[in-house]
Amino acid sequence: MKRLLFLIPMLLLLFGCSREVRTQYYMMDTVMTFALYGDTAQEAERALSDRIAALENVFSPTREESELVAVNRAAGTPVQVSPDFAELLGRSLAANAETNGAFDPTLGGVIELWQRETVPAERELSQTVHGCEYVKLSGETVQTAPGLKLNFGAVAKGYASDCAKRILEEYHVENALLSLGGNLYAKGTRKDGNPWLVGVRDPNGTQEEWLGTLPVRDAFLIASGDYERFFEEDGVRYHHILDPNTAYPAQSDLRETVVVCDDGTRGDILSTALFVMGSEDAVTYWRTQGGFDMILVRKDNTVLVTSGIAEEFTLTAEGYSLEVVE
Ligand code: AMP
Ligand code: MG
Repeated sequence: MKRLLFLIPMLLLLFGCSREVRTQYYMMDTVMTFALYGDTAQEAERALSDRIAALENVFSPTREESELVAVNRAAGTPVQVSPDFAELLGRSLAANAETNGAFDPTLGGVIELWQRETVPAERELSQTVHGCEYVKLSGETVQTAPGLKLNFGAVAKGYASDCAKRILEEYHVENALLSLGGNLYAKGTRKDGNPWLVGVRDPNGTQEEWLGTLPVRDAFLIASGDYERFFEEDGVRYHHILDPNTAYPAQSDLRETVVVCDDGTRGDILSTALFVMGSEDAVTYWRTQGGFDMILVRKDNTVLVTSGIAEEFTLTAEGYSLEVVE
């Protein structure tokens, strides 16, 4: 099967009569690990990993044959896109307005310049075309301005986690933990009946060091941070979350944002957008929009936790102070 060629199964353990399935893949530029329990776990795992592999072919910014690469090449002329593409673009354009521009799916050109891991020249940055006003979406037809490059790096994994959640429902899988890089979806409980306990990364530590833990049940937990991708030049650290207003890494007072909610796409959009906003605007956004909880780790080592999860969050790392946001 062609689609399976895109998967790199690194581990597949089956215990008993397909009651528990654990797999690991490298997809969408990240390591994904899936744990599913129940009689239909094996079929569900196959279906959801195939679905995510197919989505990678839609949204990959680098894969030559991806739909996104084709749409970006066709900038300037109208193109018919797939239902997944139209849906995620529609949500992304709406999110750009809702976040007052902090989330922007048109930064592809700017992102490519920064991915060279050296500070781009001002002239190069100012020549990139970006801005949602240059994108027209009508049904499943997209037209962007010549030179504009869409990029869904901040939201495609969240969208994929929503699709995976629906597959768990279709297959009646009651208990599962899906990790799509920094994007987690926890359904039901662990085998012992306790809730999935998720470690929140310490932005000042290594990949295995936790800031704290949070039990998560039937929810998405999605994190963004300046430690995920960055380079240093002349002693300055340039991370991968960009401020659309400046086309530079966001000068945020935050190091990490964690969003807990029941919508993976929204969670992924917000983890990025709240980082760009900075703690003050992020708190205002939470108070006015609501419908999610968050953990914000500021550069001054204050951890802000919203009231919906404050009681359940356990801060375990040293050197931080906790504030509850009401
Ligand atoms: P995330 O890890 O979800 O915060 O996504 C970060 C990735 O999204 C970056 O590596 C860029 O590819 C892209 N990106 C960076 N800044 C933005 C932004 N302000 N809006 C939308 N996408 C962004
Ligand atoms: Mg994101």
